Parts: sequence; C-alpha cells; structure tokens
Amino acid sequence: MNVMHHQCEFKDKKITVMGLGLFGGGVGVSRFLASQGARVTVTDLKGATELAPSIKQLEGLPISFKLGGHCESDFANADMIIINPAVPRNSKFIQIAQNHGVPLNTEMNLFFQLCPAPIIGITGSNGKSTTTTLTARILEQTRRKTWMGGNIGKSLLNSLDEIKPDGIVVVELSSFQLAELRNIKKSPHISVLTNLSPNHLDRHGDMDDYIYAKKGIIAHQTLADYTILNYDDPELRRWERERKGRVLWYSARQPVREGVFIKGNSMVIAIDGVSTDVPGLSEVKLPGVHNLQNIFAASCAAYLAGARRPHIEKEIMAFTGLEHRLEFVREVAGVQYFNDSKATTPESAIAAISAFQSPVILIAGGSDKGSSFEAFADACVKHTRSVILIGKTAQKIKGLIQGKKDTRETPAISTPETFKDAFMQAHQTAQAGEVVLLSPACASYDMFTNYEDRGRQFKEMSLAL
Ligand code: ADP
Repeated sequence: MNVMHHQCEFKDKKITVMGLGLFGGGVGVSRFLASQGARVTVTDLKGATELAPSIKQLEGLPISFKLGGHCESDFANADMIIINPAVPRNSKFIQIAQNHGVPLNTEMNLFFQLCPAPIIGITGSNGKSTTTTLTARILEQTRRKTWMGGNIGKSLLNSLDEIKPDGIVVVELSSFQLAELRNIKKSPHISVLTNLSPNHLDRHGDMDDYIYAKKGIIAHQTLADYTILNYDDPELRRWERERKGRVLWYSARQPVREGVFIKGNSMVIAIDGVSTDVPGLSEVKLPGVHNLQNIFAASCAAYLAGARRPHIEKEIMAFTGLEHRLEFVREVAGVQYFNDSKATTPESAIAAISAFQSPVILIAGGSDKGSSFEAFADACVKHTRSVILIGKTAQKIKGLIQGKKDTRETPAISTPETFKDAFMQAHQTAQAGEVVLLSPACASYDMFTNYEDRGRQFKEMSLAL
C-alpha cells in the first residue's frame, strides 16, 4: 500500500475521533490521521484529567480536543467520524452524523482497509490476549516479520509504512470491532475462535446478537482463507456449517480430523496430510486445560503462517503467560498467591479455579455486566474452600453459592467492605499448601480504575506480606 495513496485520502479532511479512551486505539488513529494531514478533532465524554495518559501521547500534534462532552457541530460538519468500539451505536451524536450523511469508521476498519500483509485475527470470550501473544511470539521465531496489535492495546496504523506484503499481522479482535468490520465486509485471512460464552450482554443485548458480532470474523472470508475453531466448544462446533474458508479444529480432549490435538504428552499438528509431533506438554509452564487450548490455537495459526516444530516447541515451552492472567505472584508460608484479575467473566474464573489441585481461597466479585453466575457458583462449591466476595455482585453470588452448598460446610463465604479487608481475610484463612486466588468473574469498574489497577493492588498487598 503506498503512503501517497492514503495521504490523498485523508489530507485536509475534517475527521472527528469519538472516544479517545485509554486503550491505545484512540491515540493510534488520531496520530495516524494527523500524520496523513487530516484536520483531527478528538472528543470524549471523559475529561482531560482522566484521559491524561492518552493526551500526553498526542502532545505536539496538530489535533484539537473537545473533552468532557461532545459538540454537535463536530458530528454534523465532518468528513468522517472515527468511533471508538466502546461507544454505544445508539448515541445521539452518531445519529447526528448519520443524519448529515457523514461516514463512520473505526481504527481497526482503517487498518484492515490499508494493511498490505495477511492478517491473523483472534477472538473469543476468553483467552484472546494469551492466544494472540503466543501466536505472535511463535511467528517471531521464524524469519517472517511479525506485527501484533488490536484489542490487546496497540494500534498498528502507525506501523503501516513498515508492514510489507510478505510480513504477517496478528490482531486481537473484540466483538465490537468485529461488528464494525462487517460494515466494510472484511474478515481476517486466518481467523481463530477460542471459545464463546455470554459476555458483554449489557452492550450486545442478547447472546444471538453477541454471536452474530463474533461471526463477523468469518463472514467475509473466502475459500483461500482459514478458520481455526475450538472443537471442545459446543457453539463453535456448530460454526462449520457457516464456514467460508477452510476449517481446522483443535481439541485438548480428542483427536481431530485436521488441526491440532493432544496425544499422550504430545501436541499433534495434522495439516495437509503432514503430521508433526511436539512432545513434552507436561513441561509447559501455563497452568490449566484452558491454556492448553490457547497453545493449540496459537500453534495452529502460526503453523499456517509458516512456523514449524522448532519455532513452536521453543516458544510454547518458554511462555510463562501474561500479567493478570493466572499470574503467579509469590509464595508466603507455603501459600501461593495468584493474580487473575483479567478474569472478568464467570467462564475465565471457572477455568482458573479448576486449574488447581490444591484447595483454593478465592477472592471474587465486582461490577455487574449481566452475566449468569450459576456455573461459577457450582465451580466455587466444587473447587474452593473459602470464597470472599466484594463489589456489586457480592450478594448475588453469595446467594447462589449458599443455595448450592446446601448444608455443606465449605466453601465458607464472606462479604467484606473493602478489597484490603478481603485480601487480609484470604491471607489469614489460607494454610500452607493452599492457594489464594484473585479471579473475580466480574469487571472491576465499581471499585477500581480497571482490571490492571485491581491486579496491581492485589500484587502489592501480596508482596507486602
Ligand atoms: P481475553 O483477552 O479474551 O480477555 P486473556 O488471555 O486476557 O483473554 O485471559 C483472560 C482471562 O481468562 C484470564 O483470567 C485467563 O486466566 C482466562 N483464560 C485464558 N484463556 C482461557 C480460555 N481458553 N478459557 C477460559 N478462560 C481463559
């Protein structure tokens, strides 16, 4: 893609970026458009103080800011609006832009329109960031130039000039980004689905809506493209009927026709009649069956993009996981502390609780995004010795666990006021050989800035013991 081409496209255009946010996308697209000669206005409901880290990254660029609210004229008199995927589609200001015939676009849509290299897109309810990182790291072992970004917190728009057609791009995609990609009829060349469970139903309305958004990742694939699906997920198994590209499966439970599966202590990659054994799965450092699934998904995608056994083997054995995802913090008096603050859904917390052989003292709860906690409560009864609940969902989860444990003594349940009290209770309850686990099953917005803030506080308290 030549730069001149998009320079013409954006030069002197009046473009409003709606929603700067703190996750990198807003900053990336604003910087890119400014560098292309567009007249950029950044507007956000949040004020300058809250957005300071993002604003700082745009210092010195010719961008005007309208913060702490939106202005109708920035929507009515623009050549294009770039919406942050977190902005609700029914916003009055989007309506105003539409009434004036102003086209809407997103950071990720622009990237898909302009990227000259093939794209591996990864989505799912849980495991996106882990799988995305692992796929990119395996590919970095090969000679192919690899780029990683998207929902994981990095915009690749400003790398476009360096991305060449023979490179490979790995992006994490949220359901909101996928819903927008449908509007430009684009899907990745290699699409990976980790799993599907109810998530963000506060935004999507219902499960059908959410699944429809996620299906955007295959909707515009062609016969030359690949779809990598988790065979262990009942919903994804049904997707084969709607495939547009070639389907490959992975499973941590049984052999699959074509794809990646477990055989004893080995991972088998069976693609195009060639079978590759990667032995030594017990040496993998990431805990839990769910991480095995992430490893299989990443290995499959990386294999299709050119990685072979030495690259795959080296990286899956070395990878210790990401911060806040079942992250080992330390051991004190025989008690292991794990930070799984990124577990913002019941399913991810269930995966964490079930990953341990030792008794678990669990800290959970947080803000309410409309999830069902039935299965989570079951897992608590089955796998934990004590559950300490905080936040908006504390009483709801407490009631469910109490109903399920019936007359049994465990798990003990408590609902302290503060996070600090919760931590101290966990610390005092835990005995040598047990695990203190922060795996909230909920978002953090009722008591923390975000999940990172929650995880960091947990780690600080653990390290201060
Ligand atoms: P995402 O990017 O989809 O939020 P992450 O890789 O950041 O996924 O992991 C988020 C949470 O989900 C973490 O708590 C992690 O331990 C858990 N998790 C990771 N992979 C899976 C999986 N395949 N199934 C269920 N839970 C998972």
